[in-house]
Amino acid sequence: MSIFREILSPNNPFWEACARHTARQSTRTINHIYLCDPCAIRLTIESFNQRPPIYHGETVSGYCGLCNSLNQVTLRLWFACPICWNVIVAYQKGFASSEAVRRYWQRKITPSFPELQLIEKDEIRLLPYVRASQTKKSSAAVLNTLDFIALGENQDPLFHIELKTGPGTLSQMREFQLDVNDSNDVMGAVNNTQLPAYIFHVQVTYDYLPPTRGAKSGGLWYTDVFTLLQHQISVRIRRGEDKKAGYYSPQAFKPIDQFPSELEARTYEELRRRVSSSPFTLI
Ligand SMILES: [Zn+2]
Ligand SMILES: [Zn+2]
Repeated sequence: MSIFREILSPNNPFWEACARHTARQSTRTINHIYLCDPCAIRLTIESFNQRPPIYHGETVSGYCGLCNSLNQVTLRLWFACPICWNVIVAYQKGFASSEAVRRYWQRKITPSFPELQLIEKDEIRLLPYVRASQTKKSSAAVLNTLDFIALGENQDPLFHIELKTGPGTLSQMREFQLDVNDSNDVMGAVNNTQLPAYIFHVQVTYDYLPPTRGAKSGGLWYTDVFTLLQHQISVRIRRGEDKKAGYYSPQAFKPIDQFPSELEARTYEELRRRVSSSPFTLI
């Protein structure tokens, strides 16, 4: 049995309210997730405004729905609205994706380029839902970090890396899709730091171990921000949503095996010169 058994009382003012919404947001939707104890506590504190689950159920051997470890995990139920629950279940894929990049760098880049350091800047933070005070576009305009930054010999910043996680391989894709908010973030950070950015597509799929599932990384592909923009097909409203996205030809991307030769040729220096000669315009 797990140690963490605290529950939200039905008398609590946040009963039948989204646990992640900081201000009361009524919802009667109950969502379930299998979590190891540390992750259940972490979610309660960091994402759910100190509101514990409404129920702890069976403990089984399986994947933790947050940290992906194969462990003893316990069923937990929370009230949460659909928007917030999507954010919560996406963390697991995000963790698998950033770990895949750190592992790739350690195995394939560090042995040949020991002077290059990869620093994770935008570590995945578990956060509650708070209404944003700034628009996405104005926050992109002042952004100066992306997911990772690569440092050179003298700790000098060389380029950013932004991750995009998805279930498919590039060859299966008809179009590569990037939310306008995400592309504005990339271009805003490039403008503000005068450093180029690479975009890594990280394939992450699910490994099912019922009743649990784990997120597992597959292939990696990369492109730089200029090449991506050259391959833009259109910008349009995403189907069934009100968010705009850019659509790009998958041919913008190369298999990650070619990334070491990109570093060898120091292509990022050439990209940096292009950044300083023509700033990007946010969409
Ligand atoms: Zn966990
Ligand atoms: Zn919510």
